[in-house]
Amino acid sequence: MAFPSSSKAFASSACGYPDITRDWLHQRELKMRYRTAFNGEGYGVHPSTTSFTMHEETHTQAGKVIRDLHALGRDYARSDGPWTYRWTGIAGTKVCKPGYHRYGAAIDFTRFDWGSGRYMDTAVHGEERRRYLRRRYLAVIATCRKHFGTVLHCHNDPDGSHWNHIHADRGRQAVAMNWGYQTDTTIIQWAARDLAGMEDMAIDGDFGPQTTKGYKLLRERFGAEDVDPTSSPTASRLWLDLIGRHGMADEDAGAFRAGESAAAAAR
Ligand SMILES: [Zn+2]
Repeated sequence: MAFPSSSKAFASSACGYPDITRDWLHQRELKMRYRTAFNGEGYGVHPSTTSFTMHEETHTQAGKVIRDLHALGRDYARSDGPWTYRWTGIAGTKVCKPGYHRYGAAIDFTRFDWGSGRYMDTAVHGEERRRYLRRRYLAVIATCRKHFGTVLHCHNDPDGSHWNHIHADRGRQAVAMNWGYQTDTTIIQWAARDLAGMEDMAIDGDFGPQTTKGYKLLRERFGAEDVDPTSSPTASRLWLDLIGRHGMADEDAGAFRAGESAAAAAR
């Protein structure tokens, strides 16, 4: 079943949208765990496997995020690879409140875990001092954007609540990137800062002259002069795949090139 096409429809419909209940994403052994608290260092605490109710399409799309993060860990681990994906931390999916959560069309991620102490915690790593962990967070954001049109995070946080989780929803489909959307502009800004060395890049969602410069620098380093991420969803995914690979592998922009990403972007 398709989603209502406008946010107005989402705001006014009842809570009884069709949904499913699952305790896994992508594969049955890759469980979800509810984040119940934070420990003394600010990391999420996720004691046990938990079932969540959500729209079936949200489950499918979130499963693709996990599929891609599993592949990134396997093929682009920063050290001692391959990494094997284990479980995902979740703060919530379907909640009867205004917005996309009401329809189970949104999911709040809190942790992505590859086992053996390799993970990304959304409450800490977005503003982490260590760049390789910020890069890993960026890789996750880019991967989420491949499969969801709206991704809110610590640098795209309109209501101040996303310092500790990543929100992804299908209110906007996984369409081509559009610089009028903060979801898309913040990813480019973040990539320019942490992958291409533009240390003074503001991650503010405003696609101005500095961001244009960052975008051109990335395009050149990625060998993506002929690939405009605003031209199609496939071109958009190619860019997001490149950002994901660099972020996961902790490499500077240019380590991987656009020509090698075509296959991954097609999925
Ligand atoms: Zn949310």
